[in-house]
Amino acid sequence: MSNAKVALITGSSRGIGATTAKLFAESGYAVVINYQHSRNDAEQLKQEITDMGAACIAVQADVSNESEVTKLFLAADQLGELSVLVNNAGILDTQARLEDISAERFKNILEVNVLSCFLCTKEAIKRMSTNHGGVGGTIVNVSSGAAKTGSPNEYVDYAASKGAMDTLTRGAAMELASEGIRVNSVRPGLIYTDMHASGGEPNRVDRLKEKIPLKRGGTAQEVAEAVLWLATDKSSFVTGSFIDTTGGL
Ligand code: NAP
Repeated sequence: MSNAKVALITGSSRGIGATTAKLFAESGYAVVINYQHSRNDAEQLKQEITDMGAACIAVQADVSNESEVTKLFLAADQLGELSVLVNNAGILDTQARLEDISAERFKNILEVNVLSCFLCTKEAIKRMSTNHGGVGGTIVNVSSGAAKTGSPNEYVDYAASKGAMDTLTRGAAMELASEGIRVNSVRPGLIYTDMHASGGEPNRVDRLKEKIPLKRGGTAQEVAEAVLWLATDKSSFVTGSFIDTTGGL
């Protein structure tokens, strides 16, 4: 059991989640890393964070599955009192037009990107809410600029899932404000991670970067800094809000 505040970051074996986990560790948090498949990456990150002197565990759990989410939060309880939940786990599928997206694919995207956020938020409420004897906390949802653009011709399913996540952010923020829980969101734009390879185009950020007003892609660190700010008392009067880390797009 650690005396440090505990931050649980879903989908933190790679990309934005992994960078966020490291930033929270550097900022004095005990960190719960979560992953689905990338055990080696997660264990390596755990070692890095432990070497920094922070408490850390890595827990395998598919966050779209209710019983696995229960298991994840029970494991997190072993580390200490949960202060921060970052709903970061997310997927996209290959670029396709709407009429070529199957119902099965659409459901899977919604389950991994939205149902996961809903299930993890429920578990966090049970631990953080003053209604349940908790001392409050913060939740940060990693959405996407796609929630506003709709991602036509690429991933309308993914964009719709992020739109749903944004509505969840607003609703949860209003419902939980009087119970000591702030809920906010970061909406990244084109960020250099492996996610674009999952969409079938590893170099997508470089192809599109000239369309970004700042004329470059973003880094995972630039997203993580916004997540950290929303999670800490530095943003103590902010709830139900969105930070677009999109370079102006
Ligand atoms: P990434 O590099 O592909 O990493 C995705 C992470 O999510 C991995 O750690 C993966 O774990 C985990 N994950 C996926 N499905 C999971 C599940 N069912 N249960 C638990 N973990 C799961 O993606 P990223 O670019 O860092 O994206 C992180 C978040 O930022 C996502 O929500 C994404 O939608 C959002 N975002 C990214 C961009 C961008 O340009 N990169 C832009 C806008 C928004 P495993 O490796 O173990 O499967």
